[in-house]
Amino acid sequence: MWERFCFYGMRGMLTYFMVYQMLMDKSVANLQYGATQAWVYAFTFIGGLFADKILGFKKSLFWGGLLMIVGSILLMISPKDFFFTGIAFVIIGTGFFKPNISSMVGQLYKSGDNRRDAGFSLFYSGINIGAFLGGILMIGVGKGEILSSVIPENLRWNVAFALVAVVMIISLFTFALNHKKLGPIGMSPFKSEDKGKARKYEWAVYIGALACIPLIQIMVANTVYTDYFMYFIGPFSLLYLFYEMTKLERKDNLKLIAALVFIIFSVVFWAIFEQAGGSLSIYAAEHLKKDLIGLPIDPNMVNNSGNAMFVIFFAPVVGLLWLWMSKKKFEPNSVVKFGLGFLFLGIGFYTFFTGKFFADAAGMTSLNLFTFGYLIITFGEIALSPIGLSLMTKLSTQKLQGVMMGMWFLASAYGQYVAGLFGSSITPEDGASAVEKLNVYSEGYKQFGIYAIIAGVVLIAISPIVRKLMGDVK
Ligand code: GLN
Repeated sequence: MWERFCFYGMRGMLTYFMVYQMLMDKSVANLQYGATQAWVYAFTFIGGLFADKILGFKKSLFWGGLLMIVGSILLMISPKDFFFTGIAFVIIGTGFFKPNISSMVGQLYKSGDNRRDAGFSLFYSGINIGAFLGGILMIGVGKGEILSSVIPENLRWNVAFALVAVVMIISLFTFALNHKKLGPIGMSPFKSEDKGKARKYEWAVYIGALACIPLIQIMVANTVYTDYFMYFIGPFSLLYLFYEMTKLERKDNLKLIAALVFIIFSVVFWAIFEQAGGSLSIYAAEHLKKDLIGLPIDPNMVNNSGNAMFVIFFAPVVGLLWLWMSKKKFEPNSVVKFGLGFLFLGIGFYTFFTGKFFADAAGMTSLNLFTFGYLIITFGEIALSPIGLSLMTKLSTQKLQGVMMGMWFLASAYGQYVAGLFGSSITPEDGASAVEKLNVYSEGYKQFGIYAIIAGVVLIAISPIVRKLMGDVK
């Protein structure tokens, strides 16, 4: 919950901060936003791998949390001067934290336990409480919408970035007090007789992570380097997986291929969904009226947190709906659920597009309609994302759990990266009128909506084939 507070809090501020505080070009800001987010998720792949092989989940969490705290303190001291350094710390910290939390949820259930999907839904609601709070509080403090009477104007962004350190300290304390309840889950994979060796490897991971900080800083500031990395890491991870597959039986391999189908489609999903932190964040700032069913609510807060709030309420409802449908024997299978996820995403983006028909002469349109669009998108996310996590833990063999979870998040890295490209491609000319700008965004969202619907239809059409690959997994 607290880690997602930081992630979604920062996600909601980055593009805004780059454009309106660091005065960057919007298109560059979109690309750098995409690169930042891509690195967060790329590092989850690396963090997952090191946790599996060396640190174990528990130590990974502490190390990750610590790096996030340091990054936040740097950003608090001077958000503009330490922007890329602070972000680099937070990126790597999140990489050590995020995937391991999800894998630990998977380990709470024995194989075949039918509460696993429900467990992931509950987990998903939980992390979204953090996303909701972070998304509102961080940008709210930064923009002066919250606590403006107690925080001096020149320190608002410093305090906003400092919130990461505050909540991660709470998070690490909570974990330190409770981790015993997890029993052996999350211990280092080394046996006790290898103490010396384990220490050496551990220190190598810590030092290696610190050595990556200047690299990440350069890569995010110069997005072409991120491009090169993205060209490399995907094919590399696939080759690695194929190598692992040579050691497995045919039926396990077929399951892994099914997992890959889900992973590849999820790239498209996140590329569209993740306009949220990029182009939609500028769209919200410039084209939405500050009026949500009569209340003067900041559109950026809705953009950052509306989705999380809907997840908190509706993930359990959808969970119950699946259970009810399964009792009546017409629960859609996971592939069809994925397809439905895309259809909802498409309709949601189409709803954003229709905003332009309700705009005034200043290019300002309805926050209510925008919020409704997010409601629809959220149903898509619930149909796809927690199920994806659960499927990764079901379709992979015991030894490949961490790697497959890593690949699932690596797909999010690609999604984020493509989201930056998409967002940058629909950036209006600076000199354009407000109405023209609104038009450019709206046409873009319509296009993304169409892509999502095509992907959904394709998935539903190929669902019988994917089902076959999945064997006994539902
Ligand atoms: N909202 C989810 C989370 O924060 C999904 C993120 C993702 O996989 N891109 O965990």
